Amino acid sequence: MPARYRVIIDRDACIGCEVAENHCPEIFMLSDGDGKCRVKPRYEARTNDAVSIGIIPESLLRCAEEAVEACPVSAIVIEPS
Ligand code: SF4
Repeated sequence: MPARYRVIIDRDACIGCEVAENHCPEIFMLSDGDGKCRVKPRYEARTNDAVSIGIIPESLLRCAEEAVEACPVSAIVIEPS
């Protein structure tokens, strides 16, 4: 079975700077509602005010890692799913 990874965005920490989306638009977007980052519906497992969680395939791991490294408030974590 192909590897899957869990992406977790701490939306309390997120400052809505758009850097994650700029680095990896396949996964990340800013929410219309509160202007903070969320996982796009295609990969989203759950989003609420505090957190957005997604499940991504290995093919998007590097993309997600670039967003993790670029986020100025370290609000994104990736872990094996
Ligand atoms: S880079 Fe970090 S702070 Fe900026 S929108 Fe993405 S999660 Fe939020």
